[in-house]
Amino acid sequence: MRAHIRLGTVFGVQLGLHFSWLLIAFLVTLSLAAHFTFVNPEWGSLVIWTTAIVTGLLFFVAVILHELTHAVVAKMRGLPVRSITLFALGGVAQIEKESGDAATEFWMGIAGPIASVVIGFVCLFAAAALGWSPETQMLAPQTPVMAALVWLGYINIILAVFNMIPGFPLDGGRVLRAIVWWITGNVDRATRIAARVGQVVAVLFIVWGIFQFFSGAGFGGLWIAFIGWFLLNAAGASHSQVEVTRALRGLKAADVMRSDCQIIDARTNLQDFVDQHLMRTGGRCYLVVENGHLSGLLTTHEIKEISRGQWSKMTVGQVMRPLEDLHTLDPQTPLSEALETMARDDINQLPVVSGTRLAGVISRGNIVQLLRTRAELEV
Ligand SMILES: [Zn+2]
Repeated sequence: MRAHIRLGTVFGVQLGLHFSWLLIAFLVTLSLAAHFTFVNPEWGSLVIWTTAIVTGLLFFVAVILHELTHAVVAKMRGLPVRSITLFALGGVAQIEKESGDAATEFWMGIAGPIASVVIGFVCLFAAAALGWSPETQMLAPQTPVMAALVWLGYINIILAVFNMIPGFPLDGGRVLRAIVWWITGNVDRATRIAARVGQVVAVLFIVWGIFQFFSGAGFGGLWIAFIGWFLLNAAGASHSQVEVTRALRGLKAADVMRSDCQIIDARTNLQDFVDQHLMRTGGRCYLVVENGHLSGLLTTHEIKEISRGQWSKMTVGQVMRPLEDLHTLDPQTPLSEALETMARDDINQLPVVSGTRLAGVISRGNIVQLLRTRAELEV
């Protein structure tokens, strides 16, 4: 998931928002305003809207804290975390590697729900300290601060419970996967089971949501069905990812890299390069060298970004993707990791460097072809 709006960096983790989140922020504020109007109509619209907006913002902070807890545990366990993106259905922490053992997976998965439960109870206790009592004033807290704390308390606990539903990719799915992994010692089997349970949960959500919709729940029912549909897709995606990881096990970057890439001088005119090399040989990857040193990679992707009229005025060096911007792989990098890196950076090719020497170039196309070949022979 790509962030459309960047919020900044905390503990070295980039925080971002997906556009779909804005819609939810709007709906949450709207429903909070409706809730406060219902419970405390005497407040007046200014107080109601201010409380709704502030409560919405604090909820947003609570979701970020949930995700940051996942990220901090991942980092403590040696897994680098690149970013956290909030979208319509919550947050996604982008962890750059899969856990290496069941315990890491367990603690990483359960950390977020624990954070939400703690936040929830802290809010409820704070409300109680201000005089709110769950027995008599469950639905009618008196002051805006109390009302906000009570709502935040319940919503964070609900969030934790929802996330502990044991279907991948929810946190509960991760925890289930860790437990099955720990019992069976088989990570593939654990992921398959967690993904399968995730699919069953997703279908139940869809069925229940549609049933609710026809029973008159309206938008709420459709929303539940939509969450189910999202979970179904995500569970399917994690399932196929396991299959790919399994198929690529034991293979390294050096096995599929091409070492026959053509070399182009950075000073070459772009138009000349297109006419004399690209259009003649149909090559897919070109390494750009400057004074004998590798300085970047050039593919049709970069050329397409430049309007045709500019080609004759530019050099290959100006258009290439510079080496600093590219991840380089070691020949010993596992193929599944190479594929993950390419998917994350949204790039189709990566240079493979051995020490300081360029060993070759690896492309998604090569890997896909390899997967096809293996699938054809595996009956
Ligand atoms: Zn979580």
